[in-house]
Amino acid sequence: MNPPRRSVVVMEGPHEGDRPAPKEAAGARAGAFRTRPARAAYVDRRLAELYPEPAVPLRHADAYTLLVAVVLSAQCTDRRVNEVTPRLWAVAATPEAMSRRPAAEVEAIIRPCGLARQKAQAIVESSRLLVERHGGQVPRTYAELEALPGVGHKTASVVMAQAFGEPAFPVDTHIHRLARRWGLSGGRSVEQTERDLKRLFPRDHWNQLHLRIIFYGREHCTARGCDGTVCEICRTLFPRRRPAERRR
Ligand code: SF4
Repeated sequence: MNPPRRSVVVMEGPHEGDRPAPKEAAGARAGAFRTRPARAAYVDRRLAELYPEPAVPLRHADAYTLLVAVVLSAQCTDRRVNEVTPRLWAVAATPEAMSRRPAAEVEAIIRPCGLARQKAQAIVESSRLLVERHGGQVPRTYAELEALPGVGHKTASVVMAQAFGEPAFPVDTHIHRLARRWGLSGGRSVEQTERDLKRLFPRDHWNQLHLRIIFYGREHCTARGCDGTVCEICRTLFPRRRPAERRR
């Protein structure tokens, strides 16, 4: 029988201008990034340099419109959501107004975002509950937010962070993948990754940092199956990392 073939997984070459600064490279050679806290401190500092003022990507006017936009963003791009929401706000931009719209009308407007039926029902029903239970206001606790249809922990965290300025660390697929690639978490679930990241980074950095990681992930970490040797931060933190080999 022939021995199993081994293949080197390399998806793409380094990004332009992604060389680590000489001081960082020297630090990495000296083992400066051996520990999670050291890697976290570098990531925190470097991302703040790259994205000094990260803007909230979903356009919104208040906590309610942000909540709806985040619900719409599930399995959809922020750009698509931003194209759709002005048409939705023209019809209803408050819980009172939205709760009176037929779900079918909302569904027709938000169809480009995908999962339109489920999202429309969640938006209309959540709006009704906001009126009934919270006087038409978006509540400020996780328990109350997560009791709304279509609102999970990540959505609640985004609202807490971006609408109310409460420290939160919403973990999406970009953050989950990068936390593992950067050796900040070995978490197999987003819940574990969130716990690890909250332990590593100062609480007052969470809200901007989670946006910065998302922006970095969108810009650099789009290669499916990247071997972790391609871009600046991975190469700075792990200069000796070699392309993974895997058996076919
Ligand atoms: S962050 Fe790491 S895993 Fe992601 S693209 Fe860069 S090198 Fe690859």
